[in-house]
Amino acid sequence: MPKQHSNSNHSTLISHSLNSSHNLNSSQSLNSSHNLNSSHNLNTSNSLTSHHSQSAIKNKHPVNTVDVLIIGAGASGLYCAFTAGQRGRSVLVIDHANKPGKKILMSGGGRCNFTNYVVEPENFIGNNTHFCKSALIRYNPWEFIGLIEKYSVAYHERDYGQLFCDNSSKDILNVLLEECTQAGVKIQLKTSITAIKPLSQNPQNNNASRFIVETSKGIIQCHSLVIATGGLSIPTMGATGFGYEVAEQFGHKIYPTSAGLVPFTFTDKVGEVIASLAGISLDVLAFNERIAFARPMLFTHRGLSGPAMLQLSNYWEVGENIHINLIPNIDVTGLLISAKAEHPKQKVRSVLAEYFPKKLLLALQDLHWAAFKDMELANIKDDDLSSIGDHINNWTLKPSGTEGYRTAEVTRGGVATDVVSSKTFESKLQPNLYFIGEVLDVTGWLGGYNFQWAWASGKACGEVV
Ligand SMILES: Cc1cc2nc3c(=O)[nH]c(=O)nc-3n(C[C@H](O)[C@H](O)[C@H](O)COP(=O)(O)OP(=O)(O)OC[C@H]3O[C@@H](n4cnc5c(N)ncnc54)[C@H](O)[C@@H]3O)c2cc1C
Repeated sequence: MPKQHSNSNHSTLISHSLNSSHNLNSSQSLNSSHNLNSSHNLNTSNSLTSHHSQSAIKNKHPVNTVDVLIIGAGASGLYCAFTAGQRGRSVLVIDHANKPGKKILMSGGGRCNFTNYVVEPENFIGNNTHFCKSALIRYNPWEFIGLIEKYSVAYHERDYGQLFCDNSSKDILNVLLEECTQAGVKIQLKTSITAIKPLSQNPQNNNASRFIVETSKGIIQCHSLVIATGGLSIPTMGATGFGYEVAEQFGHKIYPTSAGLVPFTFTDKVGEVIASLAGISLDVLAFNERIAFARPMLFTHRGLSGPAMLQLSNYWEVGENIHINLIPNIDVTGLLISAKAEHPKQKVRSVLAEYFPKKLLLALQDLHWAAFKDMELANIKDDDLSSIGDHINNWTLKPSGTEGYRTAEVTRGGVATDVVSSKTFESKLQPNLYFIGEVLDVTGWLGGYNFQWAWASGKACGEVV
């Protein structure tokens, strides 16, 4: 279907000023919770009835008509916006935040791990593991690398193919914003949405508007509506459950959401021991029945963090154990039994001293072999040495939970992908409605995968809206 350009005003508009107290109230009411069973703050009825009458808003702000309205000026929304703009579509991106791309700015410790040299479908989880394939195959990491190289953004590779900016995440956001400017995309900030109404289709006019969106800054009519509002992690950065509410409004199923790529917390005695070791990090193999990650682990005041734990958290359900091999390449039982034969007067801690910082070694001793701590190996039965070895090679812990959305990098679950096109990201229930990025039930590993998903889904959608 040919798409026509219906708006000639192509200056980038980043609006900061209008009616801020009203915006705050509106956005708070939408932000209030991600309670999918509650009566939504978003007007989900098929009429435009909010606390403003339509005409009042019309009088205050003129109705704005665009080809493509994107809600969410984050990673996927911006990518989608300039892709569509480059095709000559008039594109408006709205966001309730006061700045675009806040998560990009805070990502990768301020250096944005923007992609990974090796991206495979196996690096993503979701209820339909095939869904991510089409977009990822069509948009490989080199496309994004090519884009930032065009702007001479300096970057480097870290372990496991992860690519980070040399200088600042700002470099990435600036590239996206510059592409938006060049493509004539408008970005309107501090704008909250109070209602979305589908318009009946006119078979005579393929380009007619399909939605009316009521916002705190007036009414917008659009042909294509793209939901790019991300997940629930870091609410202080503007994360809301808005995308899930819109999806539900149009009959989509939402898979239960939970914090992903997030540290584990512990409340029992082990929790106290872990807290006392805050700051210590070591390379471990973290695993459960489904997956294993050989990565560094970090003890913190609140629990266990570091890449090994964050990765495992994507595969963990409340109530399950996690397992940690503290010396992945050594069979500790075998090591202790050989040491007993060769140096029978040694103690367990002397054998293990070279593998652990002293504080950690003593804490493990208190936890796992307190009864044998001053015994010579010769006096410890092989079965007991084997049990100590097991504790080191397979330390089994039951987290009480995770740090939750406050610190999580991603949200697991989200809009079910079975009725969303994996090629275009269009809803199969509501024509011209699209979902991209993290709002979907697609969650990447740590390592640049979540941005790669945002770019890939944003591009695929931007090519068709
Ligand atoms: C601390 C942190 C570090 C991270 N580091 C990395 C990393 O290094 N590499 C990596 O690959 N991934 C990283 N991620 C994950 C990555 O940031 C996200 O997966 C990615 O930004 C998702 O893109 P998105 O476009 O779907 O959503 P977002 O980028 O989150 O954008 C969503 C936008 O929607 C707006 N919005 C939300 N609700 C509303 C509403 N009701 N009305 C209007 N606008 C709304 C938000 O303000 C936001 O601008 C990190 C995440 C966090 C929290």
